[in-house]
Amino acid sequence: MVILRCRFLTVNLAPLRPSHFQSHKLLHTTRFFRTPNLISTPRITTSSSLPTSRSISDEARFARSVLFIPPGVEIEELTDDMVLPGSNIVIGPFAGHSQIKQVEFVKSSARARDCPKDDLPEIAILGRSNVGKSSLINCLVRKKEVALTSKKPGKTQLINHFLVNKSWYIVDLPGYGFAKVSEAAKTDWSAFTKGYFLNRDTLVCVLLLIDASVPPQKIDLDCANWLGRNNVPMTFVFTKCDKMKAAKGKRPDENIKAFQQIIRENFKQHPPWILTSSVSGLGRDELLLHMSQLRNYWDQ
Ligand code: GDP
Repeated sequence: MVILRCRFLTVNLAPLRPSHFQSHKLLHTTRFFRTPNLISTPRITTSSSLPTSRSISDEARFARSVLFIPPGVEIEELTDDMVLPGSNIVIGPFAGHSQIKQVEFVKSSARARDCPKDDLPEIAILGRSNVGKSSLINCLVRKKEVALTSKKPGKTQLINHFLVNKSWYIVDLPGYGFAKVSEAAKTDWSAFTKGYFLNRDTLVCVLLLIDASVPPQKIDLDCANWLGRNNVPMTFVFTKCDKMKAAKGKRPDENIKAFQQIIRENFKQHPPWILTSSVSGLGRDELLLHMSQLRNYWDQ
């Protein structure tokens, strides 16, 4: 049993029995890094696929299935303080300079092939409309106006690239699930954004934003499953975790547990996840650190 603590939430992840996975058809492997040598020899393996010659404790097996263990970290070396608070993310040797000193809007693109071609690594941010995407981007870059570009009429359906520290991109993707958008427009979103995921070689990871103030939404789960099926590396970023008392319905910790339960049923390994709040700044520095290790590994 591993208990992951954050400032206000304890997420207690119970170990899975093998039958738990066997009863489901959707078995996703999550590719954490878009790097051929890792894909062919994944660092994280499930208990069922571990070589029998290697002795490994139940705890280590369990850690492998729920923790995100980055390249360069051996499971035997794991200690509590290597796990980022409010997340399942282990920080390894590739984590480094993470603060954002400079950010500039570069361009809006209508298709993946129109995106910048300078081969810099990029981290895309995706989520349902109103999930808190603009607030999170502004919180990460500590500017009020950055994500506003994508809120201007006509830019909402575009891929917006922001160059950070002249060395990598934050990519603001169109939100999905607009209540007021027609079915035809929703389909457009789908084809257009899917094209980006499938064709963008410099995409290091997608931050899939999940609103912790509402129960699990089918549209978010569909999106996560689609990314998983297509081997697009993703991190779940739970937003609005400061909303401890929801006006109605369940609290964020209950919503998060329910979401994670469904994900555990669908994924072989739980993707990285982290709790955030753009209001209190919860998880900001931790998320930036996680992004730095993904980027630095990709970059080497
Ligand atoms: P977007 O449509 O995904 O870009 O969402 P916005 O960033 O515009 O946020 C949608 C709404 O959620 C706004 O009313 C924000 O003030 C609110 N919001 C965003 N982030 C947070 C958060 O961390 N905590 C709380 N309590 N509200 C948030």
